[in-house]
Amino acid sequence: MNQRPKFLPRCVDARQPAIRAAGATAACLALLAWAGFAWAATDPGVGAYALTGSGQAQRAYAGRARIERTPEGQFRLTLERGDGASLEGALERRAAGWRFAVDLPGRGITEALDGRAEARRTLRATYVVAADGSLTGKWRVLEGRRPVDWGTEKLVPAVAAPVSGECPTRVHVAVSVDWEGRELAESNLRAMRALRDALPDVPLTHFLNAAYFTKAGADPARVAASIRSVLRPGDETGLHVHAWKSLIDAAGVPFRSEPTFWGYPVTPPAGGGDYGHDVEIAAYPVPDFRAIVRRSRELLSGAGFSLSPSFRAGGWIADTKVLEAIRGEGFEIDSSATDTTWHDELASYPLRGRIAALWPGVTKESAPFWIRTPAGQVLEMPDTGALADYITAPEMEGYLRAALDRCAAERKHDLFVHVGFHQETAERYASRVTEALRAVRALHPPCLVFETLSVCAEKAKETLATGSAGSTGGAGR
Ligand SMILES: [Zn+2]
Repeated sequence: MNQRPKFLPRCVDARQPAIRAAGATAACLALLAWAGFAWAATDPGVGAYALTGSGQAQRAYAGRARIERTPEGQFRLTLERGDGASLEGALERRAAGWRFAVDLPGRGITEALDGRAEARRTLRATYVVAADGSLTGKWRVLEGRRPVDWGTEKLVPAVAAPVSGECPTRVHVAVSVDWEGRELAESNLRAMRALRDALPDVPLTHFLNAAYFTKAGADPARVAASIRSVLRPGDETGLHVHAWKSLIDAAGVPFRSEPTFWGYPVTPPAGGGDYGHDVEIAAYPVPDFRAIVRRSRELLSGAGFSLSPSFRAGGWIADTKVLEAIRGEGFEIDSSATDTTWHDELASYPLRGRIAALWPGVTKESAPFWIRTPAGQVLEMPDTGALADYITAPEMEGYLRAALDRCAAERKHDLFVHVGFHQETAERYASRVTEALRAVRALHPPCLVFETLSVCAEKAKETLATGSAGSTGGAGR
């Protein structure tokens, strides 16, 4: 195969203010490097890039690139230029930027027709990372030592190619926490505080459960202090309900023991204690569930937690009765819709089938949508990325990257995505959220915003009102 790659680089970032200010040319930079001038090259972002460039022989070209980081901390670049071959090699830190040098396939590697080995052809490029995360570079193709082509190119993060210097569309990411009402173990709260320290600019949407306050012997002041220890300014506190016996009793409603997530009725635990977490809240008629929601609000607001209009059903089981009840109690935003493809761990239980039946067509790409209930409209903000118990860090990162790529490719409307974790399993799984969000944020995508669910919902309403919502399923209930 003697296919000739379409291009090749070497370079200096003319847009780098420092370089521009110095009026430096490549020769100047080389001189500075030679003189021992210390230039700390900014690390390139890991991820996908869109590529454009031009050269003497091959004129303008486009393609794509990818930068990865090896476990040893080295950067590797893969270039695909137009219909040229894929080129892969190390990015090596230099004083003035990042050097990339690879042999070109075909000539120099195979023998020419006349049997003589042709001169080896290499591509040499130098890139500089700009403040917006793009890489600009100059390149040369050498045949032996003789330059046969040269030009410039630019690599723009695929998720962050702003139009007119601004983001025409954004990816709104809500990160939520389901508080199950089971326990407030210090190990889990500590893990949550670690997440807050690692992601100080990411607000959380807490779906609080009032059952901590109805457990036998609960000290309301201590419960409230434990919850408050992981809240931060800017967080949102919504409501999460599981049908705990103590909470149902506190609401003055007859307890129901089925149907449950796992397919068999609950029974009181032999050693005593609260139970009913796994009973569907959809088991309760609208008036009863309204009383449960009302009591939950009283308990939480009595402890100082002012609730937002956001709700999530235990086990994502929000049927039409549940939605009517919460809307009747003032909750206008629901986040119970989810994509059960994440829940493969639940494959052998009725819960997964119930979620799928309640939310047909909801996928990880579903946009917000309105649901009509007899008590009024509810804005459904799907929990598109489920919770961290069911999605690994690489899966979550890939999911967020895909949303950013989709936003950059479509540029038609804002996208809304959702990830989260449970308070009760934070010690095991919260780090997945930290890891994924850190990795995505390292791409410096300017179109990515972390917001609470209510803030996302306000933007979603605007999007829905203009008819530009990019729903790919899930609408209509
Ligand atoms: Zn729950």
